[in-house]
Amino acid sequence: MKKFTKDFTLQEPIPQEGIDLALGVLKTGRIHRYNTMPGEIGYAAELEEAFADYMGSKYCLACASCGSALYIALKSLGVEKGDIVLCNAYTLAPVPGAIENTGARIELVEIKDDYTIDIEDLDRKAEQTKAKFFLLSHMRGHMADMDKVMEVVNKHNLIMLEDCAHTMGASWNGKKSGTFGKAACYSTQTYKHMNSGEGGLLITNDDYVMARAIMFSGSYMLYSAHTRRPALEVFEKVKKITPNYSSRMDNLRASLLLPQLKILDNQCKRWNELYDHMAARLDKIAGCVCPKRDSKEYYVGSSIQWNLPKASYEQIETFIAKCAERGVSVKWFGNKEPNGFTSAYDSWQYFPYLATLNLPNTKKVLATMCDMRLPLTFTTKDCDDIADIIEEVVKEMGLN
Ligand SMILES: *Cc1c(COP(=O)(O)O)cnc(C)c1O
Repeated sequence: MKKFTKDFTLQEPIPQEGIDLALGVLKTGRIHRYNTMPGEIGYAAELEEAFADYMGSKYCLACASCGSALYIALKSLGVEKGDIVLCNAYTLAPVPGAIENTGARIELVEIKDDYTIDIEDLDRKAEQTKAKFFLLSHMRGHMADMDKVMEVVNKHNLIMLEDCAHTMGASWNGKKSGTFGKAACYSTQTYKHMNSGEGGLLITNDDYVMARAIMFSGSYMLYSAHTRRPALEVFEKVKKITPNYSSRMDNLRASLLLPQLKILDNQCKRWNELYDHMAARLDKIAGCVCPKRDSKEYYVGSSIQWNLPKASYEQIETFIAKCAERGVSVKWFGNKEPNGFTSAYDSWQYFPYLATLNLPNTKKVLATMCDMRLPLTFTTKDCDDIADIIEEVVKEMGLN
């Protein structure tokens, strides 16, 4: 039995420049973002400048996590208790969590066989519910046809927030993911495209939204220390009516991220070499279906998904166990019980109405969908070894 021995959770080390910057921060003890000398700009503010420049956006705010950035963005966009927020049904738990945190109601939208949001269902549900808000989660880096998404968004005047946790560095038809909606959030948690352990970045071009977001994030009355912010007058309007949710990023984490941003585009290319190699191999395995990606989508393949359409629920469980025995770590969002970082929408019982919600296509797709990380510590040779094992198990189980 062939075995794979590398660790699917192992990322690359922080670049030496980041380690040096971080040691500098530690030596001064000035870790809190507002703990700066007169005239000094801390690394958190510097990171906001650099990321806003990278994205071509007016403003950027560094937060404690993407989940907290999503919550703050929803609040800043005007989501209030009882409002309806449309969202694709295949996403990660922090996304419904951010919606629940605002007191809003979630209205889940179906996904298609290629894992992206079903735009016709979005249109229908926007019509039916008269929702004002739409949180589009580019889950696992899969981007829907953004031209068609924007048609529906504009038709219903939806205020769209993009969850770009897995599309940092990605684009649709040359336009960066996260520049389609009114605001977008990114994650710098260890398993995303830049690694500071935890962290989130929120971008928008809207003065009011960013002033609110900075206040929500916990700037106290120190917001003038932000350099990528709206004019101080805008804060005058919001500073006393915006609660402090204490979700700041600190200078230590920002120092780790600054050098990573410089190499982000190249890292994305490296991910795609692994992804494209893996996808080509999976494509050749009878029984595995790896949906074709749109030529307009410039994705970042930091993880890969495929379906085993012939497998039953029990067979998927066995497939995952057999792969695990051989050192290949496959995740499953179709499990009835939430497990590890995966969960299906009917397990988000803090929204009681989801337990009985039937989204047949989402259920069908997730039931046989396999998910696998592709860390940059892997090589294309590793992808071949993994593919050999998957092929072996598929054949052994007669899923081909
Ligand atoms: C990781 C992730 C998040 C949350 O990011 P955190 O920084 O861990 O809060 C949100 N959405 C998606 C799709 C993610 O993958």
